[in-house]
Amino acid sequence: MSHTNDALFTRGKKVMPGGVNSPVRSFRSVGGTPYFVDRADGAHVWDVEGNRYIDFVQSYGPGILGHAHPKVIEAVTAAAARGTSYGAPTLGEVELAEEITSRIDGLEMLRLTSSGTEAAMSAIRLARGATGRDTVIKFSGCYHGHTDSLLAAGGSGVANQGLSGCDGVPAGAVADTVVAPFNVIPEIDDTVAVVAVEPVAANMGLVEPAPGFLQGLRDACDDAGALLLFDEVITGFRLAHGGAVEWSGVRPDVWAFGKVIGGGLPVGCFGASAEVMDNVAPLGGVYQGGTLSGNPLATAAGLATLEVLDRDAYVELERIATRLADGMQAVFDDAGLTATVPRVGPLVGLFFGDAAPTNFDEVKDVAENGIYPKFFHELLQRGVALAPGAYEILFPGLAHTDEIIDESLAAMADAAAAVVAG
Ligand SMILES: *Cc1c(COP(=O)(O)O)cnc(C)c1O
Repeated sequence: MSHTNDALFTRGKKVMPGGVNSPVRSFRSVGGTPYFVDRADGAHVWDVEGNRYIDFVQSYGPGILGHAHPKVIEAVTAAAARGTSYGAPTLGEVELAEEITSRIDGLEMLRLTSSGTEAAMSAIRLARGATGRDTVIKFSGCYHGHTDSLLAAGGSGVANQGLSGCDGVPAGAVADTVVAPFNVIPEIDDTVAVVAVEPVAANMGLVEPAPGFLQGLRDACDDAGALLLFDEVITGFRLAHGGAVEWSGVRPDVWAFGKVIGGGLPVGCFGASAEVMDNVAPLGGVYQGGTLSGNPLATAAGLATLEVLDRDAYVELERIATRLADGMQAVFDDAGLTATVPRVGPLVGLFFGDAAPTNFDEVKDVAENGIYPKFFHELLQRGVALAPGAYEILFPGLAHTDEIIDESLAAMADAAAAVVAG
């Protein structure tokens, strides 16, 4: 029996809020009916009606090699045949932990989780346990997953819904959370356990840290005896071979990773120096665990993905992203559609405004100007899928060949012209 997007959306909405299992997928902020994916390969996804799209969503980051990469499929298939979960340690976990720690300067030990949310949540608990302090400073527009204490001013997932915060989060849960503007060094006193930051903000569109911002945070944390947490769930193993430390030269105390390290299966991890990680149970008093943590399918997919991501891959990723970002800027300039296409390494953003925003307030002004939904739909009709929300970034990866980038740019030129024509 053949399905349609409309029929599946109608069915889905009866049994899942908004018809989806993560709010941005519902198309709420761009309007219309989401395409229901039937299958995907490389840079492309096909919906249940047989429409093909060039995909710049790529699961919001995990698909850095493109969909259904043969090495990932082979690794996952082989792992599945040996059983899907044991509740006992495995070789794959050790190998993935060794691979991740070997690439990140200062990261000595980690704990695998099943999502980025868990990773960030546990990293915060660890920082509080290690310092004996309670206060968390986070930055407006940075997203650290959907844990209660970190949802304040949470960027994309929350902003796309037009909500300022989140119902159901008691005041007590955010009482020790301080929200500061991105790109300004906050006041850090001796109650602060941890300062959490996306080293390159990628959940309010793409916002680059101002020169000196990350080093300034490092210095201010050192002065106050607070820990610095890099939430690298997006930037990790995308920005650079050695993550944001290699890119910025600034080393945090605690890390959270996710997305790329699971190769499209549910994984996250948090880690730190061995000294800090000694606080995690069973060595120390900070409890953290999970039935499916370090799942054998997920570790196999993660390892296979990181194996492909050697140093050469990052040169290629940046080249692809540059072709896309420069091409997009030219397309919008030619069409007379005001837009800024920021790029940081392989990360690409899109703002329909005349300058790259530097903080969440500036982002919101541009993201809410109504252009993005129009462009999004004009482009989707032409076979190119961006994320259905103005606060997301683009995720070009190794599957986006020059031909596919150029085909995307041609579609963007037509879509931009259509937006200008109104
Ligand atoms: C996606 C994301 C998370 C949450 O990860 P999930 O796997 O969706 O729970 C946390 N932090 C950042 C920076 C993210 O981009």
